[in-house]
Amino acid sequence: MAEEKLVYSSKINKIRSFALILVFAGILLMYVGILLKNVEWLMLIFFILGVLAVVFSCVVYLWIGTLSLKTVSVICPNCEKPTKMLGRVDACMHCKQPLTMDKNLEGLEFDEKYNSRRYMKEQEEHK
Ligand SMILES: [Zn+2]
Repeated sequence: MAEEKLVYSSKINKIRSFALILVFAGILLMYVGILLKNVEWLMLIFFILGVLAVVFSCVVYLWIGTLSLKTVSVICPNCEKPTKMLGRVDACMHCKQPLTMDKNLEGLEFDEKYNSRRYMKEQEEHK
């Protein structure tokens, strides 16, 4: 049995697709609202939910904008394309190669937990 390879997609790409899904969900909710126009309160609920989803996705897009400012551009050692890194560990946008900014983490198996502040603090305490 072949070992399943962990495919880690770049965080920014992940957040971006999440925002896109939210836009569609919002439009869909409003559409359902229109279909339910006979039941006024139900239509209202779907409409409000739809508007909220769209507004929230705008917030997420703005958030991606600020996140992009904090990313570090690096050249991926695997595919040699420029990619953006967010946080201590991230994956290459092109080839999903795990990348790390921290020398201590080099060679370790890639894990999302290295990005958590609490985990790093615990590591510090054990030293
Ligand atoms: Zn790459």
